[in-house]
This record gives sequence, C-alpha cells and structure tokens, in this order.
Amino acid sequence: MAAPLMSTYAPPDLVFERGEGVRLYTGDNKAYLDFISGIAVNALGHGHPKAVAALKAQADKLWHLSNMFKVPGQVELAKKYTETSFADRVFFTNSGAEAVEASLKAARRYFYDKGEPHRYRVITFTGAFHGRTYGAINAGGNPAYLKGFGPRMEGFDQIEFGDHEATKAAITEETAAILVEPVQGEGGVRALPDVCLRGLRELCDEHGLLLIYDEVQCGAGRTGKMWAHEWAETAQPDIMAVAKGVGGGFPMGACLTTEAVGKGMVVGTHGSTFGGNPLAMAVGNVVFDELNAPGFFDKVNQVSNFMHQQLAGLADRHEGIVEEVRGKGLLMGLKLREGIVNKAVAGEARDRGLLIGAAGDNVARMAPPLIITEDDASEAIGILDDALTAAGK
Ligand code: PLP
Repeated sequence: MAAPLMSTYAPPDLVFERGEGVRLYTGDNKAYLDFISGIAVNALGHGHPKAVAALKAQADKLWHLSNMFKVPGQVELAKKYTETSFADRVFFTNSGAEAVEASLKAARRYFYDKGEPHRYRVITFTGAFHGRTYGAINAGGNPAYLKGFGPRMEGFDQIEFGDHEATKAAITEETAAILVEPVQGEGGVRALPDVCLRGLRELCDEHGLLLIYDEVQCGAGRTGKMWAHEWAETAQPDIMAVAKGVGGGFPMGACLTTEAVGKGMVVGTHGSTFGGNPLAMAVGNVVFDELNAPGFFDKVNQVSNFMHQQLAGLADRHEGIVEEVRGKGLLMGLKLREGIVNKAVAGEARDRGLLIGAAGDNVARMAPPLIITEDDASEAIGILDDALTAAGK
C-alpha cells in the first residue's frame, strides 16, 4: 500500500512521545536536548506549566467561535502587542505564511485607498523565506520552491540581501513596499546589520514606501529583545508578520500594522475562520507575559552571548569544517565548508542526543527554547564538538 502521507517531509526514524523543558523524550525514555525547538517555535520549552494550564483551562470553557463573534483573549493580546511596539492594529492568523499574506494585502490596500493602486510592487531579497503559500513563495523567490507551481506571480522584485544601492535603484513609481527578515532564518541564518535596517527605513521614508518586516522566525524574543528590529532602534516597520514563537507551540501568528495601514483593512477586506482562536489566544497571552517578565530577556542575552563565545571557540577548533558562526541571539548558525554537509552534521548530533536543524547556504541551524541555561549550552557545545569531528572524517 502507498504511504498515506505525502512525501513533502523526510523525518528520521525517531518518534518523540513527550517534551519537558529543553528536552524531548522517545517512548523508551531516551532524552534529546532540543536545540531547534520545532524551528524556533517552542520559545518557553516543552510543557511550560503556565502555558499548559492556560490551554487546559480554555479547553474546558470554549474551543472555537470564528471571528463572527468577539473571541476571548484577542483584544487583550492585541493590546499587549500594540502597547509595547510600533504597532496600533493587529490581525491574528494561524501561521507565518498567513501573517505574510495579510501583510502584503495590507500594503497593497494602503496604496489602493490612497488612490495609488498602481503602487503594488514589493522589493524582496535573495535568500528570503516567507512561507509556502502561493504569494509567499513568490515573495521568497526561491526557484526550488517555485518550480512546478505555474507562472510567477507579478509584483515582486528581488534584490541582493544587504545591497543598499541596488535596493535604491530598484524603486520605481510602482513600488509599494520593502519586505525583509531582520535576521534571515531559512536563507542561512544571516542577520542584517542594524545600519542596513535603518537604511531601509530611510529609503522608505524618502520614497513614501511601506517597510514590512517578516519576524516570523527572528521575533518573539529570539534575538534577546521582543522583536529583532528593536536592536536597530529607529528602524521601525509599518507592517510586521509574526508567528512561530508567539504561540510557543500552539499554531498562531499575527500581522501588526500602524494605524495608517491598519485602518484600511475594514470589514470584507480580509478574514480567517481560525485566526485568533480562543485556544491560541489563551496560550499567546501566557507566552507574551512570560517573555516580557522582568529579567527574561537579560537571561536570553546572557546565555546567547555565552553560546556565541562557545561557538566561536568551536569554529576555531574545527576551522577545516566551520567557515563562520552566524546569527543573532538564540538564532544561530554554523556555515560549513564545502564538502561538509549541514544535514550530515545534524545527523551526527542527533545520534549523540542533540537536535539541531539545517538552513540554506549549507548552514547548521540552532534555535533552542529561550529558557536554556549555560549548562544546556555547554552540553550542546560538547556534543557539537564530537559531531563536527565525526562529520569531518
Ligand atoms: N517567514 C519566515 C521568516 C519563516 O521562517 C517562516 C517559516 O519558517 C515563515 C514565514 C512561514 O511560516 P509558517 O510555516 O508558519 O507558515
């Protein structure tokens, strides 16, 4: 009989039964140190007591209403996001790709409402990843993800990541927005320097464009601030797509906008049956509160500084294998030299009880729960040391 699942994924022959903190356990109780956390999702680790309690309490009360009624928890969480960020308005989604789609629609609608419907093009960057919906693969522009899915969607102009002059030159009368990940995840864990983010903000101001950040992977405390762009202070966006970590493992996302952009998204312009569902809101509120508790980000910054130091040491010890250390905060990557395959390194690490991921540009990717300690970090570095040695043989 044919396999019942589509072959879109190729997971290893390993089944996890439960998770606790930064560890996952198989049915026979073998523990794995989780340094990928569902690709930057389980921000509070597995089975966080407050998140579990909130989900259980909500499950006893009400699962689903749809947005035809006021959904408990939505206004509360939207207020938390808007009172602590650039944003004034929030639309809740189920996933990152949907948050990106909502962002692109909000940008186009903004210019439509301004009487400038000819401004619909969006500048994007090489190595970008914005999700797997039709709009998102076209925005991402990765040929491997577009292949076989029909004609390219009109309206995206892709520029070399970080090339300010080329970005400037690509702006035309039809340009509506610039869409960028402040730290690229999938594209190879590449952080855009703060000065470049500020440069993009200035370009947008000069030309009346909207700046859209995709913080689906790098947001939600991953870099040691609630949102990655906050490191660049003045470089605030007009629109931001978030997901992954904001739900800590419960599927949810959001599109955040300024008042000027958000006010155009009126009844009938957009919608979602499940977006902002009561269960998602119950967990999302706990995740926000935990991330923003006093001292939480100090700890993230301490442990990520420690990790980056340790990774630099690892790169020195394995200079024939590791080309460079990349990333920001707890979104980290080891760019491997030609001939060393990132997935092989991840496999060697997994065989030794450490879970890491792979990203584009032959990078071994790490995105552990934000609650890791220096002991967890040291344990991971020890295993990585052995995994790199094994992969280099
Ligand atoms: N944007 C970025 C930067 C991502 O890393 C991802 C997922 O990896 C997405 C969008 C898509 O998110 P989702 O898989 O939840 O649709």
